[in-house]
Amino acid sequence: RELLANRVKTLTPSSTLAITAKAKELKEQGIDVIGLGAGEPDFNTPQNILDAAVESMTKGLTKYTPAGGLPVLKQAIIDKLARDNHLTYKPNEIIVGVGAKHVLYTLFQVILNEGDEVIIPIPYWVSYPEQVKLAGGVPVYVEGTAEQSYKITPQQLADAVTEKTKAVIINSPSNPSGMIYSREELEALAKVADEKDILIISDEIYEKLVYNGVEHFSMAQISEQIKARTIVVNGVAKSHSMTGWRIGYAAGRADIIKAMTDLASHSTSNATTTAQYATVEAYNGPQTAVEEMRKAFESRLEKIYPQLSAIPGFKVLKPQGAFYLLPDVSEAAAKTGYESVDAFAKALLEEANVAVIPGSGFGADATIRLSYATSLELLEEAVRRIDTFVKSKW
Ligand code: PLP
Repeated sequence: RELLANRVKTLTPSSTLAITAKAKELKEQGIDVIGLGAGEPDFNTPQNILDAAVESMTKGLTKYTPAGGLPVLKQAIIDKLARDNHLTYKPNEIIVGVGAKHVLYTLFQVILNEGDEVIIPIPYWVSYPEQVKLAGGVPVYVEGTAEQSYKITPQQLADAVTEKTKAVIINSPSNPSGMIYSREELEALAKVADEKDILIISDEIYEKLVYNGVEHFSMAQISEQIKARTIVVNGVAKSHSMTGWRIGYAAGRADIIKAMTDLASHSTSNATTTAQYATVEAYNGPQTAVEEMRKAFESRLEKIYPQLSAIPGFKVLKPQGAFYLLPDVSEAAAKTGYESVDAFAKALLEEANVAVIPGSGFGADATIRLSYATSLELLEEAVRRIDTFVKSKW
C-alpha cells in the first residue's frame, strides 16, 4: 500500500540541508569547518524583547490567541507599517502567522487552484517553488541575470504572464542576491501587474538590512491601486534577530487575509502566544538594536566584499541588502578542474573546510551563496581558505 501522498513525492528538501549536514559531520570528526550557510543573524534577540516575553508569561498570558493574531500585536504591526512604510491598514487586513515562511505557505494555499501559475524570479528563495507546488500551483521562472543585477525587467514579467497567472513574487532585498529594486523599478513592475491583473506578493523580510544609503521601498507604497493588489509579507526574524520565535505577518486585501485566518484556525490555531507578546515589544519598543545589527552587517560587507572579489575566477556583484554574497564562480570552478559549481562547492567544504550553499538550489547554477551572518574574523579566515584553495588548483 502506498502511504505517501502524491503531493509530497516531488518535494525537494531545502538545498541548504545537504551541505549543512555534511558540514556537521565534518565538525563531529574534529575538522574545523567554517559555516557560511546560515540564513539567520548571529546576534542574540535584544534584551527588552526577552524581558517582555518573560513578563507576559509571568502574568499568565499563555493561552490561545485569536487565529489571526493578538489585537495588540496587529496594532503594533499596523503602527510599524504606518511609521516605516507610510501604509495604512485595518486589523482585518493583517494576519500574524508562524514566521513569514508559514504565512507565505498559507497565502499560496488560499489563492491557488490546481494549475494556477506563480511567477518566480531567478535567483529565488528555495521555499517559493515548493510552496507553490504544494498548493497545486505551477512555478513559472523568469531569470534575473547577473547583467540585470539579478533583477527581472517589466518586459520579462509581461512576457511570462498567461491566462493562468495568479501572482508574481518580488523579494527585495533579495535572498540570495542581496539586490534591491529601486522605487522606479518597482513602479514599472507594478504597472505590468496592474495591466495584467495579477497579485503581487512582496516579501520584505530583509527590509531593515539595507546598506550604504540604499533605501527600502515597499511595493504597496506605490499607490492605493497597487496596494490593493499587493500582499506584503514581513516579520521579525531578520530585523530583530528573532528567527526561532517564528513570527511573521501578511498585510493586504481583507478577503485574502480572512481566508488565510480561517485556514490558520484549522492548522496552527495561532502563532505561539509568548512569541507574539515578544513581537509587540519588538515593534513598540526601542529600535536601537535593529540599527546596531544593520551597521554590523554593513561593516562586514565593506570588509569582506573586496577580499572575496579578489579571488581569481570570482565575479561578485556588490549586494545592497540582506546578508548574503552571491559570487559567480563558474570560471573558478572550471579553471580548478570541477565539472560543475556544485562539485566546486563540495570540494570547498571537503578540502578548504568552508561550507557554502551552491546556487543551483536558487536557480542560479553559476553561483555560490555565502552568508556574512558570522564574525568578521571567521569571514576573513574563510576567504583566505577559499583563495588558497583556488590558487593551489588553478
Ligand atoms: N523570505 C525569505 C526571502 C527568507 O530568506 C526567509 C528566511 O530565510 C523567509 C522569507 C522566512 O522568514 P521566517 O523566519 O519569518 O519564516
